[in-house]
Amino acid sequence: MNQSPYMNCKDAANYLCCAEYTLRLSRSTGILFTKKGPKFRKLGRKVVYDHQILQEWLEQFEHVANTVCALQTKVMSLRKAINHHCLNCVYDKLASGTWLQQVFLCSVKSCALYDARPKPTRPIPESVLSCYGVSLAEPQALITSLIGADDNE
Ligand code: SF4
Repeated sequence: MNQSPYMNCKDAANYLCCAEYTLRLSRSTGILFTKKGPKFRKLGRKVVYDHQILQEWLEQFEHVANTVCALQTKVMSLRKAINHHCLNCVYDKLASGTWLQQVFLCSVKSCALYDARPKPTRPIPESVLSCYGVSLAEPQALITSLIGADDNE
C-alpha cells in the first residue's frame, strides 16, 4: 500500500473522478469543475498532488441528496450572488431605505440583472420613495402582486 502523502497525476485524477487530461488542463487554466484548481507541486518535470490538499479541495463541493437538491443549491447560490452584486452596486448606508429597498428602486433598467434584482416583501415607506423621486403606485403594486403570489404558493 502506498503510504506517501503525494499522488501522481493519474492517481490524483482518479481520486477526483476526472480524466487525467482534465486535471492536466486545469494546471494550465487554473480551473477545475468551475472552481480554482487544486494546488500541485512540480518536482522537476514531475507533477505531484498532496493527498491532504485534494481532500480539502473536494470539501468545497457540497453533498447533495439528489439532482433536485443540487439544482436548488445552484439556484440559491445564484440568488446569493445576484443579491450580493446588487447590494455592492447601489447600497449606500447613509441614504434613505434598506439595502433591499434601494436595490428595488434601482433605475438602471438596461442592467442584465434588473429583472432578477431582489425585491422587498413589504411595502416601501412613502418617505423612502419620495427620496428617490419615485411615484408610489408602481413599485407598491409590484410588491403587492409579489406578496400575493407568495401567499398563493
Ligand atoms: S439591477 Fe441595479 S442594483 Fe442590481 S446590479 Fe443592476 S444596476 Fe446594480
